[in-house]
Amino acid sequence: KNLDKGLSKTKQSVFQKLSRAVVGKSKVDDDVLDQLEEVLITSDVGVNTTLKIIERIEKRVSKDKYTSTTELNQILREEITGLLTETEHKDQNTWELPEGKKPYVIMIVGVNGVGKTTTIGKLAHKYKENGKKVIIGAADTFRAAAIDQLEIWSQRVDVPLIKQKMGSDPASVAYDTVASAQKQDTDVVIIDTAGRLHNKVNLMNELSKIKRVMQKVIPDAPHEILLILDGSTGQNAFEQAKQFTKATEITAMAITKLDGTAKGGVVIGVSDQLQVPVKYIGIGEKVEDLQIFNKTEFVDSLFS
Ligand code: GDP
Repeated sequence: KNLDKGLSKTKQSVFQKLSRAVVGKSKVDDDVLDQLEEVLITSDVGVNTTLKIIERIEKRVSKDKYTSTTELNQILREEITGLLTETEHKDQNTWELPEGKKPYVIMIVGVNGVGKTTTIGKLAHKYKENGKKVIIGAADTFRAAAIDQLEIWSQRVDVPLIKQKMGSDPASVAYDTVASAQKQDTDVVIIDTAGRLHNKVNLMNELSKIKRVMQKVIPDAPHEILLILDGSTGQNAFEQAKQFTKATEITAMAITKLDGTAKGGVVIGVSDQLQVPVKYIGIGEKVEDLQIFNKTEFVDSLFS
């Protein structure tokens, strides 16, 4: 399966260590728990979430007199699944949109290099493939390269792009995009924004202006504020997520580049600590390498 392949590095270097940590042991003792803790931390689950998981397992293990390592595996799966938040979908594998929200407006936030442009291209492609009419707005006007790259992707997936020249007002681009979407009976609007975290006040002002201006056309826009994080940066991604949630409301996250990394555990930590659902995961550079996150499939894949 695609997902198994995408997560293979995390599986090999980390989650298979889990099995090794418990192999040959007939019961769950402190030694097993210590090893488990170490494996979770080295997989970038993060210290707080790891401690939470260990604590819960300790409770469950001491309740039962004797727990085999096979059962430990099952308990671990359950606890990890319980910590993950996914978005609610009628059907996880369809790209259906909520009713009464047309156009459905997705505002993209995240720092440069995390895979914003690629994820926008993939999203546009997926929605289009599922019969939706899509438009993209290049409201990251800070870098010319951002607009150019987005244009390449929009051509590749054959979806219109609204842009202005570099340095123009991002809110004006966003306005043009939603106005055009409304006129043309578009289903999905994807708005790119510049993620300059180092200037948080500017970032906050820029994002709130974009929102305000879009709301003149679509009063409940944006319907989704999607934070893109690079999973391969592990704890850095976690720090970015914390910073962004301080600067703006985030309704969902997309975690990219999980295919090239052993740090897939970051999905668990970020989801638990920020209480923001993971909605999409990126598992490759190609247009089809984006999936709607399904926590059961994710955990199954890690432990398979
Ligand atoms: P942006 O600066 O945030 O817009 O980042 P880009 O979308 O340009 O992506 C930066 C690099 O990451 C590019 O080389 C992409 O091909 C790569 N990339 C993006 N998403 C993924 C992913 O899920 N897996 C892999 N392996 N590479 C990715």
